[in-house]
Formats: sequence, structure tokens, C-alpha cells
Amino acid sequence: MRNQDDKTRIATRMTETIEKFQQEAEIKTFDLKHRKTIAKNMGKYRQSVAAGMNQYTDHELARSRASYLKSTAMLNLDKYLMEWEQKFTAKGGRVVWAGNAEEALFAIGAIMKTANARLVVKSKSMTSEEIHLNEFLEERGIEPFETDLGEYIVQLAGQKPYHIVTPAMHMSKEDVSALFHKELGTEENASPEELTMIARRIMREKYTEAEVGITGGNFLIADIGGVAVTENEGNARLTMAFPKIHIALVGIEKMIPSIQDVDLFWPLLATSGTGQQVTVYNTILTGPRQEEEVDGPEEMYVILLDNGRSKLLADPEKRQALNCIRCGACLNACPVYKNIGGHTYQTVYSGPIGSVISPQYLGLEQYKHLSYASSLCGGCSSVCPVRIDIHNILLLNRKQSVEENLGSTREKLGFQLWKKAMLNRKLMNIGGSRLKQWVLELLFKNSWSKRRKEPILAPQSFNEMWKKRKR
Ligand code: SF4
Repeated sequence: MRNQDDKTRIATRMTETIEKFQQEAEIKTFDLKHRKTIAKNMGKYRQSVAAGMNQYTDHELARSRASYLKSTAMLNLDKYLMEWEQKFTAKGGRVVWAGNAEEALFAIGAIMKTANARLVVKSKSMTSEEIHLNEFLEERGIEPFETDLGEYIVQLAGQKPYHIVTPAMHMSKEDVSALFHKELGTEENASPEELTMIARRIMREKYTEAEVGITGGNFLIADIGGVAVTENEGNARLTMAFPKIHIALVGIEKMIPSIQDVDLFWPLLATSGTGQQVTVYNTILTGPRQEEEVDGPEEMYVILLDNGRSKLLADPEKRQALNCIRCGACLNACPVYKNIGGHTYQTVYSGPIGSVISPQYLGLEQYKHLSYASSLCGGCSSVCPVRIDIHNILLLNRKQSVEENLGSTREKLGFQLWKKAMLNRKLMNIGGSRLKQWVLELLFKNSWSKRRKEPILAPQSFNEMWKKRKR
């Protein structure tokens, strides 16, 4: 049972989160530079995806197969996780089951202590963002070094990833050049090639110095006990191969039943994510370095992260959200995301899928507003390679928030008044159109009408016209 203080605290936090979201959304929407950069990058993405789709004779069939396989994996997740663990540990891998972020961080902290780690190289991992790993390491005097170029850029800028696939999508090449000039003393207006070479030189040294490498995992493969990692820069391979210890932090929902399924999921992920036929580097790890092998880590840990996923799995209507393979296509298709940008969501997972899962993982009370940040156009669902019915789950989130009585007092009062008026013809007719127009203008003054023409009511209501006609 929550006491009054708890309730007040939650209500305050909720209001602050919503207000911040609304303010940032408004600023970003009218930020023309942001709009231009995103439009350019999204335009390139669309062209690539159109080209990548040519590899499919029947993309819809591939989507249906992927949806079926992921749903099967989720419905049998307990069985697959046990099978996966048994295979992985048989090859000398170590498994940590983390119920939440604290447990995952505790396990990572213990590994760092044993390894006496001072430097950690990381390849792109949204699960590490989810548990705020970098902050945790920094607090303990350990340097977390991002090796994915996009992640490296946002880390240099002191920002969070803007997009789940392309973390620095919001920055133009001029922005990156200026950032490198400021932070690393590079030439002003250096070309992308020069900047990449500089980043590469810095990273190469870090790989050889780091005691631990941390990656995520795109898929857990049940029948071989493998972790599949997909990337374009080769940085994840170096992160896994150079340090003596490799930790893969993977959400339990990343499970697929068999190695046979990889040939379906890898191209789907690549095409929807970046428009490639297949991503450049695809690696499957089944444990630490074996005796006959020449490289790889001496120790390999996989942290299986729950952190709200089991709760979502228990919900028959919304569990399909766990099928997500994090391709980012729904973000790129979303008119809201394109306007307000990734940082406005203030959550690790942004865009349509973020609006579905963040309220479920982080709490509906504080994040329910994200489910309303959608035009419900269905663009997200139509591009999802695993056919998640994203826009309908957004509606289900909204329904849940009403059922749990989480609406603001203002909203509830508004609907009560509206209902009263709608059920009472006499009340509706009071004052005629002029009064109604006045009320409407008052209500929409600080929202809709701030940037648009206010709604104009017809001079006569249908009811009035009907009465006249009957006469
Ligand atoms: S919900 Fe679908 S489209 Fe969006 S990131 Fe996940 S897999 Fe991709």
C-alpha cells in the first residue's frame, strides 16, 4: 500500500516528466536545423531500404515467418533459456541471471573487481544504456570507452544515443567535425574520413589496454547456446577478442530457437535497420576461447537481463512487443519521432516501440504519456519486420492507464464534464454556438491554437438544424 507521501512524490515526478516531454517536444519540432538533419538522414535511410528490399522475392512471407518464430520463442522462453544455458555453460561460459538493473550492475561490479579493471571497451548495447552502465562504471573509477563510432560521438558530446540503431543520427558531419575539434583538437572542418581515422587510432589503443570488453547481443540462439552479435564496424569483434574478459549483456527476449533461424533474422534485421542485404560483421559466440582456438577471451559471461520483460511476457495482449529485434524501422517511419527527435522521449528506447515498452518497463504512471505521443497512423506496424502490432499496443497502454485511473485530475474532470454535456441535450444547447465557440477557444488556447487556427464551430448545431427541418 502506498502512503500519501509516496503518492505525492509519484504524482510530482509524473507531472515533471510529462511537462519536460511537452516542452522539449515543442522546442525540437520547431528546430529547423534538427529537422533538416533528420530529414536528410532519413531520406538516405529510405533509399537504402528500398534497395535492400530487392533481395526479397516475398518480404511479407519473411515477416510472417519471423513473427511466428519470435512468438514461439517467447511462448516457450523458459524452455529455450534453460536449453541455451546448458549449451553455453558446457563450453565454459558463465551465466548470470539478472532480475533487474541492480542485479546486473552488481554482477558486473564483481567481475570488474576480480579483474581489477580500470578500462572497459564497449560495443553498442542498448541494454547497457538501460541499466545505466557507464555511470555505474564511472562512479567506480572505471573508464567505459564506446567503440561504435556513433556511440563514441555521442559519448564525446556527453549525450545519450538519439536512435537505437544510429545513435548520432541527429548530428551532421559539420557537427561531428566541430565536436572533434573541440574535444580532440582535430583540424576544423576535417572530413568524415579523417575523423574516422582519428577515432580508429584512439580506439585501437584502447582495445589493447582494456581489461574487460562489454557487448550486447542481437540474438540468443537456443540450440547451440550462442550469442549472435551484428555490427558494421568490426569494433564488437575487437571488443570481444582483445580483452581477457568478455561480458555480453543481453535481454532474455533476444531468444530465437535455432541456428537455422539466423538466415532469416540477419537479413531482416539488416534490411530494416540500415537497408543492407546483410550487416558487415556477424559473429556467433558460444563461450570463451577453447583450447584449440587462437584468439578470444579467457572468460566469457552472459548476463541475462529481465528488468521488466517477464512482466510483459505475462500480458497476453502486449507480449508481442518482446518480439522486437531492435531494427529501428518503426522510429524511422514515425511522424512523431521525426519531429520531436529521440532525446525528447527521455527514455533509452524511443520512438513507437519505446512508447510501447518504456511505460511497461519503467512504470506506466510516469511514462504513460508516451503512448499518447502517436498519431496512430500505423506506419510503425506496417514496417516492422516481425509484424508487431505497435500502434494497437499503444492503444492498449492508453486503455490500461485509464483502467488504472492514472489520468490527471484535469483530464478526468474534462471528460466528466464532456460526458455530462454530451448526455444532456439541454446542457449542450445552452448559450448556442457563440458560447460553445468561446469555451472551445478557451480550452485550446494554450495547446492546439498556439500554432494553428482554432477550430470554428458551425453557426448552427445539427440538433438545431434538425429541429428546424422537423418544423
Ligand atoms: S518494433 Fe519492429 S520495427 Fe520497431 S525496432 Fe522493433 S523490430 Fe524494428
